[in-house]
Amino acid sequence: MYENVLRHPGPTPIPKKVQLAMNQDIYSHRSNEFVELYRETTELVKPIFGTKQDILLLPSGGTAALEAAAVNTVSAGEDVVVITVGAFGDYFVSICEKYGFNVHKLEKEWGQACTAEELQQFLKPLTNIKAVFVTYCETSTGILNPIAELAQVVRNETDALLIVDGVSCIGGAPAEMDAWGIDILVTGSQKAMMLPPGLSLVSVSDRAWKVIEENKAPSYYLNLQSYRSWAEKGMTPNTPAITLIYGLNEVCKLIEEEGGFAKTVSRHELMKNMVRSAMKALNIGLLTDDEHASPTITAIMAPEGIVLGDFLTHLKQQYHLDFAGALGHLQGKVFRFGHMGYCFPSDVLQAVSLMEAGLQDFSYNFEPGAGVRAAHEVFLAAQRK
Ligand SMILES: *Cc1c(COP(=O)(O)O)cnc(C)c1O
Repeated sequence: MYENVLRHPGPTPIPKKVQLAMNQDIYSHRSNEFVELYRETTELVKPIFGTKQDILLLPSGGTAALEAAAVNTVSAGEDVVVITVGAFGDYFVSICEKYGFNVHKLEKEWGQACTAEELQQFLKPLTNIKAVFVTYCETSTGILNPIAELAQVVRNETDALLIVDGVSCIGGAPAEMDAWGIDILVTGSQKAMMLPPGLSLVSVSDRAWKVIEENKAPSYYLNLQSYRSWAEKGMTPNTPAITLIYGLNEVCKLIEEEGGFAKTVSRHELMKNMVRSAMKALNIGLLTDDEHASPTITAIMAPEGIVLGDFLTHLKQQYHLDFAGALGHLQGKVFRFGHMGYCFPSDVLQAVSLMEAGLQDFSYNFEPGAGVRAAHEVFLAAQRK
């Protein structure tokens, strides 16, 4: 009877209009109808990436797109830097190690971001770095790495490519791939892009294409040059996720309807501020500082005296509020509140209100309504602007 209130950092809820748009007749991926859909859709995505480069569409989860970025640019034995500030940075490390790259790992404590100074110090003694891999939003902690500043350092200090995993924030966070100097930017469908899982999006700079053309490492299904040559014809090398591309087209139109991508980003910023104010008013800790907090997901500490696993189970069973637990060593200590994609300030008010109901059930010591009021004040202040 009740709908699951899905507040995970992916997968995320799908708008009705997107569901309807996906409920269409299938055309062949070699038809004129598909070419038109492909060309229009990839054009519409460009402002979300902040690029003039082509957007390549892979029929895959985000991980395959990360793998594509790695295997197309670097060969075994070459040196790379991986910045890791959490579980998804560690993903990049694993991919690079599997392919036999010589990985220099810049590791930070979970919950922190990597600063430009730290990257600069780290790069100083290193030579011949082929690529620097970094997560934009670290989904395990809700931190946003300062990509524009990190890109500047990579440009100034090295000839390396900057390869960015934007899976859990592109569509909800600002991205200026060209202006910042990102060489490869990757995202997936099921997080801030408001789509079901199964489609990933990749964009490549001119610099990176040169490196890719010279790279000798073999790849077949994930070969980006093959995607590029088919993209010239408005097609993909193999059967694409046609249904999801219908959906992506509609997602871009919904973003236009909201008033353009900048408006979508400010909605995410507002939701972030609402969640953070609510937790502060409830005396519940936040894993990250305000400065580096992601607009798409907030990692929240277990409320004092409450067994987190029991609390999350209770919220789901009693109130149909579905938060995500944590990954790795943060399990049992932290939970994650996803506020990305098809999520609005009203959804944040709903989730905070249901969470307060749960806190009362667990006899948590707080002033009932304090969290909702704090979030609402942030919301009202934004309306008055
Ligand atoms: C979810 C996620 C991935 C993995 O994407 P899949 O679609 O599960 O393969 C990679 N990086 C980040 C930052 C993510 O949030």
